Amino acid sequence: MEIVIFGAGLAGLSAAEELARRGHQVVVLEKESSYGGLAATVKRNGFEYDLGPHRFHTSNESILDFVKKLPGIDFLKLNRVSRIRLLDRYFDYPLAFSNVLSTMPPHKGIGMMISFLWESIRGLFAPREQESFEGWVLSRFGRGLYDLYLAPYNEKLWGIKPSELSADWASQRITVPSLAGLIKETIKPSKETVRSLVSTFHYPKGGIGEICKGLVSRITGNGGSVRFSTEPKTVIKQGNKWRIELPDGFVLCDKIINTIPVNKYTNLLGDILPPEVHKAASDLKFRGLVFLIVLLNSDVTSSDHWIYTSEDRYLFNRLSISRNFDPNVGSQVVFEFSCQENDKTWKMSKEELLNSTITGAEHLGLFSSDMVVDADISRTAFAYPIYDLKYAKNAMVVLDALEKLPSSVTCGRQGLFRYNNMDHSIEMGKFAALEILGEASVKEHFNWDENTWTDG
Ligand SMILES: Cc1cc2nc3c(=O)[nH]c(=O)nc-3n(C[C@H](O)[C@H](O)[C@H](O)COP(=O)(O)OP(=O)(O)OC[C@H]3O[C@@H](n4cnc5c(N)ncnc54)[C@H](O)[C@@H]3O)c2cc1C
Repeated sequence: MEIVIFGAGLAGLSAAEELARRGHQVVVLEKESSYGGLAATVKRNGFEYDLGPHRFHTSNESILDFVKKLPGIDFLKLNRVSRIRLLDRYFDYPLAFSNVLSTMPPHKGIGMMISFLWESIRGLFAPREQESFEGWVLSRFGRGLYDLYLAPYNEKLWGIKPSELSADWASQRITVPSLAGLIKETIKPSKETVRSLVSTFHYPKGGIGEICKGLVSRITGNGGSVRFSTEPKTVIKQGNKWRIELPDGFVLCDKIINTIPVNKYTNLLGDILPPEVHKAASDLKFRGLVFLIVLLNSDVTSSDHWIYTSEDRYLFNRLSISRNFDPNVGSQVVFEFSCQENDKTWKMSKEELLNSTITGAEHLGLFSSDMVVDADISRTAFAYPIYDLKYAKNAMVVLDALEKLPSSVTCGRQGLFRYNNMDHSIEMGKFAALEILGEASVKEHFNWDENTWTDG
C-alpha cells in the first residue's frame, strides 16, 4: 500500500515509522526544510535551540519505551523548576497556596481570600455562567487571583478577552480545580499524576528535535522517504487513488494521513467537502509564536527551566533557559512572544524585539545588554489552537466530515485542533497508521479526559 503523510512533526513521523517498519511504501511531505514541527531543534548560524521549553513526560510506558529506543536518543532525567514573575517577585509554578500567600504583599493576599469567599457566597445565589474562561475561573478562584494573574496571562497568551475564551481551556489546563483545591493540594498533595504536578521529565541530549531525528532515521532505514520544502497544492480523487498536486509534479497514493493544520487540509480537499465544512474550518483559529533566542557570553544564574511573565512591562510571555535542559548547549535564553500571523509583533524585526527583550531581561535581573553576543529569530503561525467560544462546534463539524472521508485519517495537534502534548502526537500518529491498516481507530482508542491535557 502507498501512503502519503502530510507533515513531518511527531504525529506524521510516528505514523510513517509504524507503516514503514511494517513494509508499506510511505512518503512524508513537509513544507519546511527540516523535520520536527513544533518539537524541532533549530540548527542554523551557529545556533541550536528548541521552539520554547519542551519537557518529555508521559504516563504511557510503551510510548516512553518506544522513544527511549529510537536511534540516537540519550535521555537526561530532570527535575522541573519553573516560576511565575509577578509584582517584581517570583511565585512557584504550579501555584502553591502557601507560596502564594507568603510571597504576595499582605493586602493582596487578604484581598484574594475575601474575593474567593465572596465568590463562594455569590455562587449559592447567582452562579456565574460556566461556558467562558472568565466565568469558570472567577467562580473557582475569585477576582483577586483572576485579576492579578489568570486573566492578564491568558489575555496575553491568547490575544482575546477571557470572556471570549472557552472554559475548556481552563478545565483542561489549570492544574487545581479551585482556590479550595489549591489549599487542599498544598496541605495534602494528591497522589494523582496530574500532568502539571509531574515534577520530573525526560529531555534528549542534543535537543528535543532528537526524537524526530530518530524517527526519520527509522523511516528511511525501512525504505520510507521524507520530502522537505514540499507543500501539497491540491488533493483530488482519481479512481481509487488520491492524486496530490505538488509544486513540481504529483504523487498518487492509496491513503493519506494528515497532520497539518486541519483548515489547511480542508482547503486542499476543496470541492470534496461541502461549503459548511469550509466555513467551520475557516473559523478555527490558531495562535502564533515568535521566538527570540539571545546568545550570551556567560551563563545566567537562574536555575529555572522556564519563567512565565504575564505583566505588560514584558512583551514576551515566557522565557526558557536552554542550559538548564542540556548543559552542553550554548548559554542562551529563548523568549516567546504570543501573536497572530502578520500582526505587529509577528512583523517586528529581530533588532526591535531584542531591544524590548533586553529591557525586560535587565528588569528581571537575568542579563544585561553587554552580555549579548548574538540573536536569532523563528516564527510559527500554528503554535496553539485557539479555544474560543465556538471552537468545539466548529471542530466537530470539520472532524465529523473528515471522519467520513474514505482512505484518509487526520490526527496530531494541528490535524485534530487539540491542545495536546508530544506523547499524544506520537500515540496519535501510531494509531492513525493502525487505522489505515484497518486495525484500530484514533477516535476510539483515545479516551480523552481532563487530565489527559493538563500541563504547564
Ligand atoms: C511553545 C511550546 C511548548 C511546548 N512544550 C511542550 C512540552 O513541554 N511537553 C510536551 O509534551 N509538549 C509540548 N508542546 C506541544 C508539542 O510541541 C506538540 O504537541 C507536538 O510537537 C505536536 O506534534 P504534531 O506532529 O502533532 O504537530 P506539528 O509539530 O505542528 O507538526 C505539523 C507539521 O506539519 C507541517 N506543515 C504545516 N503545514 C504544512 C503544509 N501545508 N504542507 C506540508 N507540511 C506542513 C509543519 O511544518 C510541521 O512540521 C509545546 C508546544 C509549544 C508550541
